[in-house]
Amino acid sequence: MNRVRLLVLNAALGPLDYSVPEGMAVEPGSVVVAPLGPRTVTGIVWDEGRLPGTEVDASKLRPLREVIPVPPLSAPLRRLIEWTADYYCAALASVARMVLSSGGALGGPTTMTEYRLSGGLPERMTPQRLAAIEALDGEQGTIRELAGIAGVSEGVLRGLVNQGVIEPVTVAIDRPYPIADPDYDQPDLSPDQQSVADVLVQAVKAREFAPFLIDGVTGSGKTETYFEPVAQALRMGRQVLVLLPEIALTENFLSRFEDRFGAAPVQWHSSLRSTERRRAWRAISEGSAQVVVGARSALFLPYADLGLIVVDEAHEISFKQDDGVRYNARDVSVMRARFERLPVVLASATPALESLHMASTGTYTKLDLPSRFGGAQLPDIKLVDLTQEKPPSGRWLAAPLIAGIEARLEAGEQVLLFLNRRGYAPLTLCRNCGHRFKCPNCSAWLVEHRLSARLACHHCGLETKPPDACPECGEGDCLVACGPGVERIADEVSALFPDARVAVATSDTLGSPERAAQFIAQVREGAIDVIVGTQLVTKGFHFPELTLVGVVDADLGLEGGDLRAAERTYSQVAQVAGRAGRGEKPGEVLIQTRHPEAPVIAALANGDRDAFYAAETEARRDAGAPPFGRWAAIIISSEDEREAREAAVRLGDTRPHLPDIHILGPAPAPLALLRGRYRYRFLVNARRSANLQDTLREWLDRQQFPPGVRVGVDVDPYSFV
Ligand code: ADP
Ligand code: ZN
Repeated sequence: MNRVRLLVLNAALGPLDYSVPEGMAVEPGSVVVAPLGPRTVTGIVWDEGRLPGTEVDASKLRPLREVIPVPPLSAPLRRLIEWTADYYCAALASVARMVLSSGGALGGPTTMTEYRLSGGLPERMTPQRLAAIEALDGEQGTIRELAGIAGVSEGVLRGLVNQGVIEPVTVAIDRPYPIADPDYDQPDLSPDQQSVADVLVQAVKAREFAPFLIDGVTGSGKTETYFEPVAQALRMGRQVLVLLPEIALTENFLSRFEDRFGAAPVQWHSSLRSTERRRAWRAISEGSAQVVVGARSALFLPYADLGLIVVDEAHEISFKQDDGVRYNARDVSVMRARFERLPVVLASATPALESLHMASTGTYTKLDLPSRFGGAQLPDIKLVDLTQEKPPSGRWLAAPLIAGIEARLEAGEQVLLFLNRRGYAPLTLCRNCGHRFKCPNCSAWLVEHRLSARLACHHCGLETKPPDACPECGEGDCLVACGPGVERIADEVSALFPDARVAVATSDTLGSPERAAQFIAQVREGAIDVIVGTQLVTKGFHFPELTLVGVVDADLGLEGGDLRAAERTYSQVAQVAGRAGRGEKPGEVLIQTRHPEAPVIAALANGDRDAFYAAETEARRDAGAPPFGRWAAIIISSEDEREAREAAVRLGDTRPHLPDIHILGPAPAPLALLRGRYRYRFLVNARRSANLQDTLREWLDRQQFPPGVRVGVDVDPYSFV
């Protein structure tokens, strides 16, 4: 091969051709550095004939600079990159970047310098130095990372390095991970668990594409069950990927994994330090990382010899990425398994309708775990009709729920209250003039967070101190909170039960794996009586002393009115209900609602999942919604309202007219302003027979957009804002 076509990691550039200098060996998948003008680019040598472009005359080709010493990307992974870019209408380069997502892994030294406390003290102690020394106990990292942990400037730490209080250590980047032992501590499985595990173990042995859906009630031991095929893959020396929806759940998983296999798995998520990222990336690509547990981005890593993929809590919408490449890791997992010819296991107590549909058509093999492990009973579910049992104004807990909490506290048991709203109150008003505090960059209210004394926008991350006076009328001390968030419910509980130990559990309070671990330990030790949490606490946690779950407002999720509102409400409430009574004591669930007659609420109360799914399936069929038809959203945005509107209208004028594709819009998006950009939206509804992606690409490619306009395409959208 003396000429090659590269997929370069720059979405603004198309494929580029180069010559291969004498003595350099490359093959498809090789990661290389190539000259581009006065600079260089990183690229991947691609299969001949699979990237479009015109042949450049051989005499004009520049030679490749060097081959980066990492294993070439495998053919199945190259096919996955192509498929993902094609299906989600994304740039190949953007998908390839997710594969090579640890820049540091691609070269550079194999050791690096990290820092840690030496045990000495500075000549002069300052409050900042003291705080840093306290915060850094047991920590090791780069100066920048330590500065982040300690919340001080890098300068402060450099000063401590000069004084010998912080010392440098040389660490090998590629030090090996501890070895997991498939037979370390094998549990006795129940007969149901055993028969599911047997099927999966066989599938790992068969080394063929095989998609499975484990449909198991909460507490049925799905994790213990899928650990068996994991063990089988380990015995065969193959790698395993386990995808989890939230980092906060990793901790729980890690300890269970360690109990079963005697060593922790390799982690992959966004808060990994750069050295850990690099170490993990290299171990994954060389095959020495046996089991990788990670967030959705772990799906695109270049595994050397993958033998099994597990997607736990597969119904979770956080598997859908909503920026950059807008992919759904659950669906791409199945595609990866197909290209690599291996089994993939989706596990859930409330599978997505799409997944159940795939099972009913025989595409996925459905494996059931119909009862809780160890004889624990599913909790008793009752509705609290808020139209009958009205809490007093400014309060949100109705009398039956309060009585329930009281009884559990007296019995020394634990309570979980679920409300999917972070912060203290979703809306803040001026009591004098009625001014509503709005985000300047988004069409959204600012949410009051009392714990951190901030008003925050949950869309763009803007945070401000609550003002002393109303910016509109100038009146001082005028802020009124409207509606409840978890912090406010926690206050209400504390006011009712002053002795109860109450903890707020949200992404604000459990944002890092360490904090999540601490929280879990506290609940386990019985140091917390009442947990008030968002969707973060609905899944994965196993607290044997937790016997009452209260759903503060079951109607909340239905208000958005998007396609999946009912399904999401069902799965959230069913999942949080599933946290109750997992130990020896029976559990109880109280669901507060103003619409006890709504089909989804009634189905929850009756435990009639099949009826709910059947009704939901028919509604989707009528609407041409997934899995019967497909949706795509196109968002046209600009910092200039008029520019966005005009671009959207012009695009609308050139819309294709096809019998099997229906295009709605443009209309201002529900979030008409987001991060300072005005947004117009098209919704595209396609029959299954339609060629949705080609149609979208042809339509969008015909149009010239001004430089300030961005066009985002979201295939199979989850968020309709
Ligand atoms: P699920 O994920 O299905 O809700 P888990 O996997 O969390 O359920 O299991 C519930 C609890 O039962 C966990 O504490 C788990 O360790 C325990 N468990 C499940 N199966 C077994 C088993 N075969 N042997 C021992 N403990 C088990
Ligand atoms: Zn905002």
